[in-house]
Amino acid sequence: MAAPATVIHTVGSKVWVPDPAESWIKAAVQKIEEGKDGAGVLIVALEENGELRRVPASDAPLQNVETRGGVEDMTRLSYLHEPGVLWNIKSRYMFDDIYTYTGSILIAVNPFAPLPHIYGPHMMDQYRGVDLGDLSPHVYAIADAAYRQMRKEMKGQSILVSGESGAGKTETSKLIMKYLAYMGGYMDAAGRRGSSSGRSVEEQVLESNPLLEAFGNAKTVRNNNSSRFGKYVEINFNEKGVISGAAIRTYLLERSRVVAVNNPERSYHIFYQLCDGASAEERARWFLKPAQEFNYLNQSTCFDIPGDSNAEEYQRTVTAMGKVGIPAEQRESVFATVASVLHLGNISFVEGKEADSSKVAPGAAQEHLQAAAALLGVDPAGLEHALTTRSRVMREGVIVSPLNVRSAVENRDSLAKIIYAKMFDWLVAAVNAAIGEDKNCAASVGVLDIYGFESFEYNDLEQFCINLANEKLQQHFNQHVFKQEQAEYEREEIDWSYIQFVDNQDVLDLIEGRLGVLDLLDEQCRFPTATHKDLAEKLYCTPSVKDSQRFAKPKLSQTAFTIQHYAGPVTYQTENFLDKNKDFVVAEHQQLLEASSRQFVQELFASEPVPEGAENTPSKAAPRAAFKFNSVGSQFKKQLGELMAQLHTMEPHYVRCVKPNGLNKPGLFENSNALHQLRCGGVLEAVRISCAGFPNKRPFPDFVDHFWSLAPELYHMPDLDDRQIAEGILKQSGLEGYQLGTSKVFLRAGQMALLDKQRTDKL
Ligand code: ADP
Ligand code: MG
Repeated sequence: MAAPATVIHTVGSKVWVPDPAESWIKAAVQKIEEGKDGAGVLIVALEENGELRRVPASDAPLQNVETRGGVEDMTRLSYLHEPGVLWNIKSRYMFDDIYTYTGSILIAVNPFAPLPHIYGPHMMDQYRGVDLGDLSPHVYAIADAAYRQMRKEMKGQSILVSGESGAGKTETSKLIMKYLAYMGGYMDAAGRRGSSSGRSVEEQVLESNPLLEAFGNAKTVRNNNSSRFGKYVEINFNEKGVISGAAIRTYLLERSRVVAVNNPERSYHIFYQLCDGASAEERARWFLKPAQEFNYLNQSTCFDIPGDSNAEEYQRTVTAMGKVGIPAEQRESVFATVASVLHLGNISFVEGKEADSSKVAPGAAQEHLQAAAALLGVDPAGLEHALTTRSRVMREGVIVSPLNVRSAVENRDSLAKIIYAKMFDWLVAAVNAAIGEDKNCAASVGVLDIYGFESFEYNDLEQFCINLANEKLQQHFNQHVFKQEQAEYEREEIDWSYIQFVDNQDVLDLIEGRLGVLDLLDEQCRFPTATHKDLAEKLYCTPSVKDSQRFAKPKLSQTAFTIQHYAGPVTYQTENFLDKNKDFVVAEHQQLLEASSRQFVQELFASEPVPEGAENTPSKAAPRAAFKFNSVGSQFKKQLGELMAQLHTMEPHYVRCVKPNGLNKPGLFENSNALHQLRCGGVLEAVRISCAGFPNKRPFPDFVDHFWSLAPELYHMPDLDDRQIAEGILKQSGLEGYQLGTSKVFLRAGQMALLDKQRTDKL
């Protein structure tokens, strides 16, 4: 973001200059020269060490006048530019003010330390019914605004929480849900809140959090309690504003984590909780061993999370399940199923008698085969058969062929993943059934806690889907910010012309449009012999993809592709795209488990339609007729479409979470890191949209209070109202293009700064 053209530097001006390490650093103008092309060039001295630098004037935006601890709303800054925004957030963070508004968007910087004094019922009471901006910025203020707007207009509200992993989305969502539960909690006849007897809906809603976290969160390098799924919770309210129901939807649980964990990460919390926390009786029933002895867990050396006790967390999970309304019998089934997954992981294979065949290894693997079979309610021989063979339904009949050791391992892992994924979906369904959606509710507030934009060294189908979700949310965000801005101009009856903003529809067309990347991926998945090379080839030569401005083939790869996302370019590696996109239960597994003697397992696998001609292992198939398969990408696209349709009926509220450093440490703010997130989260885009119009708006009395000294004679004229004085001040200033609304002055980018300068010059 360059400095506005109207800003005039003078010797002594305090400016920001770009810096490779710090993004922006403070400097003062020493000398102004004219460059070759006539543009201004500045010689500046860095504030910290006096070092001289030469920078184009257009790269050196002016600093805002320093206010201790920053301003609560970014739109109050005279210069609403990138370094101004960054510095403001940082200054506030250093005083533990983790919340800042940009208009109605809340920016929340993760404190990485408990801040008990700013949360809890006492604080909730403070924010209750208070207009946004009247008190210090707070997540409660956003939740309160949503709640009140819902009640006032009886219209659905959504609160969209975004940010990268570890930025604080889940914690923020929980704070919002607690606030909503508090506001919408049971009220007795005397109007006292809280503490209804028995199990209340709001308690169930809140307890669903630890429950789903136990099964869907894991320790990663970024976050000790990282959600590995997206979540949308809709809380229903009756016409009195009391919670009457809720519905939870989840998105794309990371399945690969069930069978593969990188050091020093962990698999899902529940595995460790079970291994450490189950009672002696339960351990015997589920044939449990220490976590260190299970292959799915001991690929990493991390079994504990500092400060947490697996055993205590286990009790917490059991309690949460109970409170939500999952009875003991079903809890037992869930845990038995979790244990079965661990045992599956310890079933190893050796070569069988025939060439390229396999069988379960002798020794410990046999015990685990027995244990897994018992917990899944199937015959051990049947399980072994399902793990070591594949069958294909051909026109001539069913052909069974053996799997070699490697394929058997893959096959076992896919069984483990599907069991876990289905169990997770079952849990979500059970929570929903227990809480109950109120289809006749007066209105709802939806809270979305979904993974932020991801760009790693290796980007797979998961990143592709996650980034699609972010593109869609970004579009929603831009449209909203843009609409809101225009609505204000209309309300204030000022003239405005169409403001340009970057629309990302072209990226969405590229990804999910007709013959876009997802379509081509599905098409390739239908060819059993297709490899990722074929997919890449297809992408490189299909006009709807290759001709997109947003698509590129990286020079050094024959199988990767790069998409220019709104938040930056991401290169995706296609190696696993086909396999990961195919989502169906292989025939053997289906037949085995739907016939389980355990009702729970039976239910998980109830009548899944087996694709005709589908094979046991999805990869490395022989040529055969195309079959109907379930595509992960298309399913996700459909889910997202439904979510967006839902969100479009609601009034959005945005919280952008920022992770201040990569070390998860309190008090440390890394500029370039934060800046990147502000860009990805659309905060800077929102600032840009606002800059294209009238970024500085001041109510007439405020404006006059601040600038009266520019026209003191007007100020002292008794008949003039604030609007007239403001108008007089602006006329004298020689500025052009500003507007006077019904209650506010609307200034063009940079004009506030010029007025400030005139004011200080006069002092
Ligand atoms: P995300 O969901 O964005 O990946 P989380 O919400 O799980 O991130 O937050 C990561 C960690 O950061 C939490 O476990 C907690 O330790 C800390 N944290 C986040 N928000 C807050 C907050 N408002 N106050 C204190 N600590 C927080
Ligand atoms: Mg999370």
